[in-house]
Amino acid sequence: MIIAGSCSLESPQQALHLAAALQERGITHIRAAIFKPRTDPETFQGLGWEGLSILDEMRARGLHPVTEVTAPEQVEKLVEHVSVFQVGTRNMYNYELLRELGHTKTPVILKRGMSAYVSEWLKSAEYILRGGNEDVRLCERGIRSFDTLTRNVLDVGAIVYLKTYTPFTVYADPSHATGDRRLVGGAARAALAAGADGLMIEVHEEPDASWTDAKQALSLEMFDALLESIGWNA
Ligand code: PEP
Ligand code: MN
Repeated sequence: MIIAGSCSLESPQQALHLAAALQERGITHIRAAIFKPRTDPETFQGLGWEGLSILDEMRARGLHPVTEVTAPEQVEKLVEHVSVFQVGTRNMYNYELLRELGHTKTPVILKRGMSAYVSEWLKSAEYILRGGNEDVRLCERGIRSFDTLTRNVLDVGAIVYLKTYTPFTVYADPSHATGDRRLVGGAARAALAAGADGLMIEVHEEPDASWTDAKQALSLEMFDALLESIGWNA
């Protein structure tokens, strides 16, 4: 499984044009964030509810929007519009949100907290499972460490651990793990070699013009090279 798309949905035109390009490449699961939990409150925070119609249009085209949810009260309204919920690194400990997601039947991708132990991550998954939602998938997106050379440190060992000792589907997000588009392909291949079941990749038709996370966005050409390098067959 590959989930691809821009960090944020920027406009209907940008989002749907990119979605069409990804669909041509056989990608069916599209990053579709309308709520962005940003470190800096001055920066773009996502389209918010105005972006909801973009998700509907994606679905009308046979695509599956994967949408970050940042607060428990968003769940009820979003659930009719998304194919997969994403819980971001900053919300791995948002237990009210996790409980609320447990009451849905929609798949949830739970990202690892940036400083979370794997044991804490698994407990967070348990919050969702306990509500009755059985489709929880984990996503390793890099952790904080002492070295700031890359944005985060992709914990490949955690992927091996999870695939060895737990039944979870595990994805890797080499975009946030590295923060550098030149490193995304190599980190993606490392994650797959470690046993990851899929990837989440940030792609933008004009990477440097991305409203969020521009440095790590792949162009479509770079994305094509990555797909080829992993033998992706749509
Ligand atoms: C994202 O997927 O754009 C995102 C905010 O990721 P993370 O929660 O891993 O930082
Ligand atoms: Mn991002």
